[in-house]
Amino acid sequence: MIRTGFSKVVVPSSGRLFSSNATPSQIVNKHLWRTAGYINGEFTNGSATEFFDVHNPANGSVIAKLPRMGAKDAETAAQASYDAWQVWKNTTVKERSKVLMKMANLMTHYQEDLATIITLEAGKPLAEARGEVMYAQSFYELYSEEAKRINGDVLPQSVHGRRMLAIRQPVGPAALITPWNFPSAMITRKVGPALAAGCSVAIKPAEETPMSALALCVIAEEAGLPAGIMNCLTVARSEVVDVGTAMCHSPLFRKLSFTGSTPVGKWLMRECATTVKRISLELGGNAPFIVFDDADIETSVTALVNSKFRNAGQTCISSNRVLVQEGVYDAFAAALAARVTAMQCGDGLTEGSTCGPLINDAAVAKVGRHVEDCVAKGATVLAGGAAPADLNEAGGCFFTPTVMANVTEEMLPCIEETFGPIAPLLKFKTEDEALRIANSTRMGLASYLCTRDLARSWRVSEALEFGMVGVNEGAISADTTPFGGIKESGIGREGGPYGLEEYLEVKYICMGGITSV
Ligand code: ADP
Repeated sequence: MIRTGFSKVVVPSSGRLFSSNATPSQIVNKHLWRTAGYINGEFTNGSATEFFDVHNPANGSVIAKLPRMGAKDAETAAQASYDAWQVWKNTTVKERSKVLMKMANLMTHYQEDLATIITLEAGKPLAEARGEVMYAQSFYELYSEEAKRINGDVLPQSVHGRRMLAIRQPVGPAALITPWNFPSAMITRKVGPALAAGCSVAIKPAEETPMSALALCVIAEEAGLPAGIMNCLTVARSEVVDVGTAMCHSPLFRKLSFTGSTPVGKWLMRECATTVKRISLELGGNAPFIVFDDADIETSVTALVNSKFRNAGQTCISSNRVLVQEGVYDAFAAALAARVTAMQCGDGLTEGSTCGPLINDAAVAKVGRHVEDCVAKGATVLAGGAAPADLNEAGGCFFTPTVMANVTEEMLPCIEETFGPIAPLLKFKTEDEALRIANSTRMGLASYLCTRDLARSWRVSEALEFGMVGVNEGAISADTTPFGGIKESGIGREGGPYGLEEYLEVKYICMGGITSV
């Protein structure tokens, strides 16, 4: 069963809480839990007359009912973003920097509640959720500082009597569509640079995880961000195409930034052609993780566990294909299996859980299909291998962390992204063979290699056709670095100064009649 249930309830007129929408007891600062969209500085149901359920994937319970906003609300949000932008675009970088720093500080202040909200709606262990909050916070902090470095250029004079300049200006209102796997960080990584650049935004968070997005709106308001600069639409899966179309076709939105699956990214890119919008796309991956004979086994296992099992394997930079050279294959497989067997599936709010649930039943079924396909074609299960029946019978969406040996290129994990906690191990003989397998995908997001040979680390890093490379490291994301992919993994970069450029236009100004010579 995929949980997408809608419930018809009486519509409260002002978007205030109603009885079935009680704030979870674990949340201390109750005002962070909002159950309506946010447009032009108001929490509102917009044009919605029906509601959709948000579930806790650890037990299937309904944690909130949100208004099913639609295309009309996307248009209202576009207008609100556009109107508010007329003032915001003329603010000084110092003014914008101050608001962003306040937003960053409030995220730190509310870290525990924000982490609890992430765990309740996305399932990840609380320790990981706390880490996500501070990762998300780092983008507000970084872009509060980066805002002050939006420089222009005075260009060399190639014609007498003129002065030529290039200035940087905000692109304009931006539509932001985000996924459920990092409910907070995927938003701040876009909102931070957008606000710093002087853009306004309308966020369409994933239907599975809208509660973190709404809490971020509360924080923006508390920090003094003017009404209309940050808007948020609560949209059920049945309305995403309408809302997506409205966002892509609206001439008021000048930019669309999307993180999600490759098919949806391609569709959005086509729709954005109607208004020739600036786009940034961060799409699927199919990351190779290569362990060479000269690698340190413990370092490699730690790097793989960080890359593969964080968020139960539900990250776009998660290692999908583990290529191990024949000389260390058995030693690596044994050390990895021991580490993975010790992992503990459970509700993210329960002490000791190191692997939370997957996002829904469809995700569990997909991971199960990958394991079955490998086993049917000759792979051996070294750890895990199935869904834990007890937890899933109680309403959960878990899959036991799994390691499989003797995996080959014909098996499903080598063909598509698994997005789950399984590590398939392939054996290779030479560096050329590893590179051929690693690059044999239309995706190009993250890649990893483990070696102690300096020359090899350069050579292989340069030959990997991916936007990011981790060398002896599995946790590569950081606020200051360029995150993004090549090939069908996307367009553009997020993070650091690269992420800011995505929200800026360069304008050339030619001033004539300055001198007679
Ligand atoms: P996943 O399968 O992991 O949910 P998606 O790419 O379907 O990945 O979803 C990522 C985000 O894109 C979510 O916010 C989802 O609601 C949104 N989305 C999916 N389809 C569309 C669409 N046609 N238009 C706009 N947003 C969409």
